[in-house]
Amino acid sequence: MVPEANAKISVLDRGFLYGDGVYEAVRVYEGKIFRVEQHWKRLDHSLKGIGLRIPWSHQDLTRACVATLKANRLKEAMIRVTISRGAGELGYDPGTCRHPTFTVIALPIRTDLQERWRQGVKVSIVKIRRNSTRSLSPAIKHTNALNGILAKIESLKVRAFEGVFLNLDGYVAEGTISNIFIVKNGTVKTPALDCGILDGVTRHAVLEVARGSGRKILETYLKIQDVLKADEIFLTSTTMEVMPVVKVDRTVIGGGRPGPVTRSLHIAFRSLLFKELKLHG
Ligand code: PMP
Repeated sequence: MVPEANAKISVLDRGFLYGDGVYEAVRVYEGKIFRVEQHWKRLDHSLKGIGLRIPWSHQDLTRACVATLKANRLKEAMIRVTISRGAGELGYDPGTCRHPTFTVIALPIRTDLQERWRQGVKVSIVKIRRNSTRSLSPAIKHTNALNGILAKIESLKVRAFEGVFLNLDGYVAEGTISNIFIVKNGTVKTPALDCGILDGVTRHAVLEVARGSGRKILETYLKIQDVLKADEIFLTSTTMEVMPVVKVDRTVIGGGRPGPVTRSLHIAFRSLLFKELKLHG
């Protein structure tokens, strides 16, 4: 455990040189990690996807997170767990990397969430397309983030909170750091996993609560027009939970106010996590 200023990795680390690594971001409520096992399972999937084996068990990962939380005296937090292939010789051959690099960073929760949940956010459909599942699959949560960073730069130019990717076939995929949902005539729709997206832990939980509430749900293929003509739109992620979208580029959604289905799903998501983690509130 070291202070940030003393936390150093090698200039030969492949995470730094090539974005050759994977990560997870988990959310901590009252000192407890939401769906920690799902995050570690996705990490396993990512590790397998890049052909990296690590000597740490799920329990080791959780222990490292808890220790980092304690050292930072945090109860409400985001924890970023990053694992790179480690340092080796220059060049792409991973054969000389003996030890993966493992870092854990615990950070306080961003402070603008309440305000944004209340008002809703603007998103922008970016020109750059999501990586293909046949090149660098978005289902792998890897540290090779330029596809997302370029989309973020684009969306910031039009002052959007989040950029939304289309895939190479022109269907809506996901945000740069979130999954996207729309509501149309009461039906909740979200891009299917084979659109080339990350299998979001929050997406999963929201689909679960939406099903529980008896709503019609479709994991499907969405076009830009479906998004622009939606009654409601929201984003999901570990940090944002359920974030209402009130504008897509120049198109106002739902009269510019967060919609009732979005709100009720957010409430249902919160009660699910309160129950699961036995929170006191
Ligand atoms: N898609 C991408 C590209 C992301 O980076 C994230 C954030 N991890 C998500 C979706 C949402 O996933 P989760 O709900 O697990 O945070």
